[in-house]
Amino acid sequence: MSADDQLYPICDMFASLQGEATWSGRPMLFIRAWGCPLACAWCDEPLHRDPKARQLLSRHAIRTALQHLAPELRAVVLTGGEPLALPDLSGLVADLHHHGYWVAMESSGVGGTLPDPPVDWLTLSPKTPLPDTLYHAANEIKWVLGAEGGSTEFILALANRHPNVWVQPRAHGNTPDPAALARCLQLTMQANGRLRLSVQMHKYIGIR
Ligand code: SF4
Repeated sequence: MSADDQLYPICDMFASLQGEATWSGRPMLFIRAWGCPLACAWCDEPLHRDPKARQLLSRHAIRTALQHLAPELRAVVLTGGEPLALPDLSGLVADLHHHGYWVAMESSGVGGTLPDPPVDWLTLSPKTPLPDTLYHAANEIKWVLGAEGGSTEFILALANRHPNVWVQPRAHGNTPDPAALARCLQLTMQANGRLRLSVQMHKYIGIR
């Protein structure tokens, strides 16, 4: 199979502002992978499970869609679903680099191996125990917390050994959970500068 024949299951592509963590406020192009090996009960991205939303796109078709969405933007986020589970993710990243895109990826760390060449920015959003290599590879770690559950001790310990750890409250669909937000705020203050709070800015200002 040639590179142009590889097809990628994608459920959505759009241009918006990054609303989370380090790059919050930066305009980016989003490529949402269809499918995820996990099934978090609180997942706020239902499209990746909808069979009707699944499109199989070649690299050329993906780039054409990016150009159509916002020809001036050169920053892409691979998200999902789970981008790590895409077939030949390395080929997609290499192709986007070759055409001048800065490539970020948000991953739970489950479903595949990191691409080679590496992405320019890796956001790790753990949902399960992960190997240390993934924590080391991450440029930022974003921990999504509910009002209950999750180990705050583990998050605080992680913040002692990684310089860019964020906590982000879970949402119910497009509505941030106030109790989760209160918990994240308390934890951030308790960490005394080692943690930062991410609040999905796009949901507060009513954009995608
Ligand atoms: S890992 Fe992310 S995309 Fe997958 S089910 Fe959990 S919240 Fe949804």
